[in-house]
Amino acid sequence: MSCIFCEIVKGKIPCYKIYEDEHTLAFLDIGQEGFGHTLVIPKSHSESFINSNLEELTYCIKTAEKISKHYIQNCGFSGVNILINNGESAGQSVMHFHIHIIPRKNGDNILNWKIPKDETSLEEVRKMLEVKE
Ligand code: AMP
Ligand code: ZN
Repeated sequence: MSCIFCEIVKGKIPCYKIYEDEHTLAFLDIGQEGFGHTLVIPKSHSESFINSNLEELTYCIKTAEKISKHYIQNCGFSGVNILINNGESAGQSVMHFHIHIIPRKNGDNILNWKIPKDETSLEEVRKMLEVKE
């Protein structure tokens, strides 16, 4: 099955490249939800965050850190949101692991989380979600 991000890595689909190294590629998100909305991907295909190996995740995190610093130190932004959607229910639409970087400025008001408050007690939630190795 063809993967749009693998096609971008191979150069078969164009992208607006921000950065590239041996293991990762970063390019502008076509949706531009926020000026400079950027995606960081591993060059080798893995479906999602939980399906990536630690090495690939590390390469991507290092690239995301490098670009975030560049945006903040050299491009006039004061912060970034780092976002990973894992799985369809979490909003992942492209099944090639990617990290979103959304550059931010004070008062830009561009991220408007619409997550309703959950009323379950924290102890109940903790009991259900605790990691038991
Ligand atoms: P997600 O919803 O986390 O899977 O994010 C996938 C992102 O990929 C979306 O924000 C899309 O706008 C973006 N996208 C899809 N196709 C392309 C493309 N050809 N070039 C750049 N970004 C893309
Ligand atoms: Zn792929």
